[in-house]
Amino acid sequence: MKPIRSSVTILTKLNKKKIFKHIELCGRICYKSENKINNDSFNNFIRNLISRKHESVIEHFSVSVKFICDRGVSHEIVRHRIASYSQESTRYCNYFNSGLVFVVPRKFSKNTHEYRIWFDSCMQCEKSYINMIKIGLTPESARSVLNNSLKTELIMTANLREWRHFLKLRTSKNAHPEIKILSLELLERFKNKLPIVFDDIKADSA
Ligand SMILES: Cc1cc2nc3c(=O)[nH]c(=O)nc-3n(C[C@H](O)[C@H](O)[C@H](O)COP(=O)(O)OP(=O)(O)OC[C@H]3O[C@@H](n4cnc5c(N)ncnc54)[C@H](O)[C@@H]3O)c2cc1C
Repeated sequence: MKPIRSSVTILTKLNKKKIFKHIELCGRICYKSENKINNDSFNNFIRNLISRKHESVIEHFSVSVKFICDRGVSHEIVRHRIASYSQESTRYCNYFNSGLVFVVPRKFSKNTHEYRIWFDSCMQCEKSYINMIKIGLTPESARSVLNNSLKTELIMTANLREWRHFLKLRTSKNAHPEIKILSLELLERFKNKLPIVFDDIKADSA
């Protein structure tokens, strides 16, 4: 049984200027104002679109993000419908040889009482899983003994409008702490890479 931390990685190469120019070109069709395009006209143009909630224009660019998280968090991620997903399958992956990997809840510091209870529970899951495979069950049956902390890998591809929506909800006051930590990290990276599109999103605001 291997305990790990959750993580998030943006897979798509984000060339800020290219993306913003592409969005501007798409949006200017609406006003037939392509003649106003210059080297940095995308700045005000995109900020204006977002402030007026004319957000369909930012749907013209999509980004893939890889999450390594627990199954509880992945259930929350896949509730977002305007996206495409590929996820590690507990039906087809057999963890008999590799052993099982579990994501430590960020709130549980090592050597605390809660950490030890959590660790023992995951150890028991692993034992039961291995025993089930040993008696001839398939991974898709043996998985029934695994808990919400099981590690999963998940790729979510969504357009920039949906990422804005996702990040507003998942960095809000009421978001579950585990998805919130990942979403805050992701929001910072998006702000750094594509500031015009993400700058106005404030954590804890929704
Ligand atoms: C704090 C919090 C607590 C939650 N608690 C629960 C819970 O207890 N139980 C539970 O089941 N879920 C819960 N959820 C999940 C929540 O109900 C949504 O399923 C999830 O957040 C996805 O949000 P969404 O539907 O807005 O977004 P997406 O699926 O990403 O869709 C984006 C937007 O597209 C539009 N849209 C998409 N599909 C439709 C449609 N069919 N009809 C009309 N408009 C559509 C909506 O405007 C929507 O906001 C919770 C979410 C949060 C953030």
